[in-house]
Amino acid sequence: MKAAVCRHFAQPLAIEDVSIGAPGAGEVKVRVVACAICQSDIHFIDGAWNSTLPAVCGHEASGVVEAIGPGVSSVAEGDHVVITLIRSCGRCHHCLAGMRPLCEGAFPPGDEKISDTKGAAIFQGLRTAAFAEYVVVDASQVVAIPPEVPLDSAALIACGVVTGVGAVSRNASVEEGDSAVIIGTGGVGINSVQGARLEKAHPIIAVDINERKLQAALDFGADHAIDPKKTDVREAVLSLTAGRGADHVFISVGSAEAVELGLGLLRRGGALIIAGMPPSGVRAGFDLTDFVDSGRRIIGSKMGSTHPQRDIPELVSLYLEGRLMLDELISGRYPLDRINEAIDSSKGGDALRNIIVF
Ligand SMILES: [Zn+2]
Ligand SMILES: [Zn+2]
Repeated sequence: MKAAVCRHFAQPLAIEDVSIGAPGAGEVKVRVVACAICQSDIHFIDGAWNSTLPAVCGHEASGVVEAIGPGVSSVAEGDHVVITLIRSCGRCHHCLAGMRPLCEGAFPPGDEKISDTKGAAIFQGLRTAAFAEYVVVDASQVVAIPPEVPLDSAALIACGVVTGVGAVSRNASVEEGDSAVIIGTGGVGINSVQGARLEKAHPIIAVDINERKLQAALDFGADHAIDPKKTDVREAVLSLTAGRGADHVFISVGSAEAVELGLGLLRRGGALIIAGMPPSGVRAGFDLTDFVDSGRRIIGSKMGSTHPQRDIPELVSLYLEGRLMLDELISGRYPLDRINEAIDSSKGGDALRNIIVF
């Protein structure tokens, strides 16, 4: 099969013929139909996490089940599925507590499934490796969806949608009429905007330095769009929240500056929810006295605390009811052999989601 292989950090991916094994016990082989490019793939490829190479990335995907391994009963051959990187045993402390992205279960190493033409192992990046025609993943990573849902739109649910919406619906306790600020309205933040809309937050205030992303935020349900290059964000948020600051601030960009800005936008007792994953080693600083005195909270949101088998069908229903926007998230469609163009376009900052279609 063809795959886009990362052999050196910060270099274009190489389209290569590689082999993939048959699904083992508890595993599923899926023919990939679509895979979006997420900021985490870009971090991986650029070496921000110093991950294992060579590797195949791609983790926001969808496809059709090709084969199931022994013991799999949750999906069957021919099922349309969303493929996520959330792999969970279902039995550990965190799984039983409903926190699937924190699973402590043991799984086969990531270098056992894919190999190049010389037989050398290729690492399964982000547990999925969906910049390829097929993936073999744990059955917990796939969720069957109705065949009427277009698979390119469905792919986006796997990461950006569950992370952005989940940060609002699972990690924050947003009540009707609560104010919400979303800093960074790209592939994750735009979904926090629509998550806030679904929870009836008001006002919903989007902050981004990119005009197109601010416009998209308004289209997805934001009431106000603020460009920090043109407007003092703190002043604007205070004036929109009766001088108190926001009830919830969502950070969907992996940067210390965004976290520090966000803390300054909260009301006393408000919560900062950090969903954006930064490169390794990034640290943020803040005034501890003020933080404690004001009773503010900081919450790390990993993959929106999503339980795929519980939450993805619900998100699909919202899409089919016209309440969750997915089609509008797709900025461009590219074949696998033009993936480097798609990545460059994603890095350029204008795209919400570029998607590889097979
Ligand atoms: Zn992702
Ligand atoms: Zn577990």
